[in-house]
Amino acid sequence: MSDEMRRVTAICNGSVIDHIPAGTALKVLRMLRISGKRSNPVSLVMNVPSSKYGAKDIIKVEDRELTQDELDRLSIIAPHASVAIIRNYSVAEKRSVEAQEEMINVTRCTFSNCITHADREPQPHRMVVISVEPLQLRCHYCGRTQDMDSTIDNLL
Ligand SMILES: [Zn+2]
Repeated sequence: MSDEMRRVTAICNGSVIDHIPAGTALKVLRMLRISGKRSNPVSLVMNVPSSKYGAKDIIKVEDRELTQDELDRLSIIAPHASVAIIRNYSVAEKRSVEAQEEMINVTRCTFSNCITHADREPQPHRMVVISVEPLQLRCHYCGRTQDMDSTIDNLL
């Protein structure tokens, strides 16, 4: 565990998400559907100095082990994030975000005339990953390349 991560108080069991771009921790929580009243205890550390990226955010979620699938969703906003799974106060597993070929039900097509916006025929939201760095997505249905700024506002 790096010195930077020691800033986060040790937890007994859970997940520590590291290398989140500074200022995006709340979006990450939203993407992981960690919010509000029914959540496990969550701690945020924001704007931690990072040797690699200047500054970063760290999230600690108690008593929940994030899966690889959940982590991969984060490639939209935190492609360099990594997760340490903590069991009994020590790191039991480490995982990093892996780019997928397709993202299903992560984000909604930004074009309002796309078939995915028609309520009559609900479709899964499918985005083809056409580039990883920088991330570029194309809608499986209308074939249009997404504007990434709007995509972040269209997270499901
Ligand atoms: Zn579309």
